[in-house]
Amino acid sequence: MFEVDQSRSGGWAYSRSQAETPDEQARNPSEFQLEDDGPLYAAQKKVYPQSVSGTFRRIKWGLMAFCLGVYYLLPFVRWNRGLGAPDQAVLVDLPNSRFYFFFIELWPQEVYYFTGLLIVAAITLFLMNSLGGRIWCGYLCPQTVWTDLFYAVERLIEGDRRERMRKDAVRGTMKLERFAEILLKHSIWLMIAWWTGGAWVLYFNDAPTLMKQLVTFQAPPLAYIWIAILTATTYLLAGFMREQVCVYMCPWPRIQAALTDEWALNVTYKYDRGEKRTSLKKAKELRALGEPVGDCIDCYQCVAVCPTGIDIRNGAQLDCIQCGLCIDACDAVMKKIGRETRLIGYDNDVNIQRRQAGKPPVYRVVRPRTVIYSAMIACVGAVMLYALLTRTLLDINVLHDRNPVAVKLSDGSIRNAYTVRLLNKRGFDRVIAIDIDGPANATVHVVGADSITPDRPMIVLGRDQTTELRLLVTAPAANNPAKSIPVNFHVTDIGLGTVASATDNFVTP
Ligand code: SF4
Ligand code: SF4
Repeated sequence: MFEVDQSRSGGWAYSRSQAETPDEQARNPSEFQLEDDGPLYAAQKKVYPQSVSGTFRRIKWGLMAFCLGVYYLLPFVRWNRGLGAPDQAVLVDLPNSRFYFFFIELWPQEVYYFTGLLIVAAITLFLMNSLGGRIWCGYLCPQTVWTDLFYAVERLIEGDRRERMRKDAVRGTMKLERFAEILLKHSIWLMIAWWTGGAWVLYFNDAPTLMKQLVTFQAPPLAYIWIAILTATTYLLAGFMREQVCVYMCPWPRIQAALTDEWALNVTYKYDRGEKRTSLKKAKELRALGEPVGDCIDCYQCVAVCPTGIDIRNGAQLDCIQCGLCIDACDAVMKKIGRETRLIGYDNDVNIQRRQAGKPPVYRVVRPRTVIYSAMIACVGAVMLYALLTRTLLDINVLHDRNPVAVKLSDGSIRNAYTVRLLNKRGFDRVIAIDIDGPANATVHVVGADSITPDRPMIVLGRDQTTELRLLVTAPAANNPAKSIPVNFHVTDIGLGTVASATDNFVTP
C-alpha cells in the first residue's frame, strides 16, 4: 500500500511498499489516504552523496562544464558593432537602456521580446517535463550545477562518503589536519562563489574594463555590493542548503507534479523486476530452490549516491530531482552480480504494468501534450523571429500641442504645432526628410532647424538615439479645412529609403 513519507520534507510524498501494485491502488483507494498528523518541521539530515561513475554522471559532468563555461566566459566574447558601439557580445547596458545579444540590440520599448522569451522558456520546461521528467532540475538548474561543483570540491578535499561521515562523527578537539581541510574547502567554495558573483556583474559593463577596475578598487560601489550578495547566496545555497532548496524552497517540483502524465519518462525503480528484494546470498539460495526473487539485492548503493538522500525504491517523490545518479549506481551493481542493467531507469508505470502483463514496453513521445507544447514553442518562436527580422530601426511618435490646439495667423492661414520624437536605432547618423500628408498645400517647418530644402525639411538623426523636434504645420488661408482632418507624418531615410509614419489630426479652430 501507499504510505505518506514525511520523514524528510514534512510534506506529502507517496511511497510504495514492496508488495503493492497500481492495480491494488485502484481496487482499494481508501488505503491511499493522506495522513496529516506528522510534524510540520523536520531538522535537516546531512546528506553524504557517494561518488559514482556511469552514463548519467558523464552527462552531468559535460553539462556542468558547458553551463559554467558559458556563464563565466560569455562576458569576454567580443562582437563588432561598429565604431563607438559596445563590442561585448552579451551586455545589459543599463545607463543607455540597451540590451545587446550578439547581432540583436533591444531598446526599452521592445521589452515584449523578453516576454516572448519567458513564454518560450516556460513551455520548453513543460515539454521537457512531459518527455523526461525533471530534466531541468537534475541536469541544468543552477542550484544543481553549483551544488554538484561544491560536492566535487568537498569530495576532493575530505574524501568520499564514508570518509566524510567518519570525519564528521568525530567529536572533541579538532586536529590541525582536519581544521586545515575544512579551511581549504571553505576557501575554495568562497572563491567559486566570488567568481560567480564577479561573472554576473561583468554582464552589465565592459568585462575587461570592469575587471581592471575591480582589481584596482576603482569599480562602482554597486558592483562590489552585487558581488558580495551573489557570493553570499552562492556560498550558502550550494555549500549549506543544497537539497533543502529543491525540497522546500523551489516551487517547480510542485508544479511539475501537476504537469506530468502516465507516459512521461521518469527515473523509476522497476519494482516488477526488483521485487522481492533480498541479499545476494539469499537470492542465490531462493533461486536454487526455484522460488521467485527480484533483482534488487538491497545494497543501498542507489541511496548512497543520491544527492537528496532518498530511496528511489519508495516510488515517485518530490525530493527526487531526477539526476539519474542512482541509475549509474544500480547499473554498476547489476554488472557486478551479472544481472541485466537498468533495474532503475527512465521508465513509467504504464510500462511496468505492461511488462507484468507480459507485453512489451511502449514509449509514446508523440502525444497530444507534447505536440501542443511543441506547436506553441514553434508559434511563439516564429512570431518573435518575424518581429525581430521585420522590426523598424527608424521610428516616429507624434503628439499634438494641447494648448493652443490651433492658431489662426494674420494672413488667415491656420497653424498646428506638434511634438515629434524620432528614433534612430542604427549605429550610424542618418539624413531624414520629413513630409506630411494632410491639408492641401500645407507646409511643414522644423522649429530651430534650418534646412537646405525649405519645402521638405531634412535633419540629421544621430546614431543610436532619440531626437525630439517641434513641427509646425501650416495650411494656407485658401485651403483651410472646414473641420479637423487627419494628417500623416512620414520620415524617410534618404540613404536607405526606409520610411516610418505616424498619424495625428490637423485641427481647425
Ligand atoms: S533518487 Fe536517483 S534520480 Fe532521484 S535525486 Fe536521488 S539519485 Fe537522483
Ligand atoms: S542499487 Fe540497485 S540493487 Fe542496490 S538497492 Fe538500489 S535498486 Fe537495489
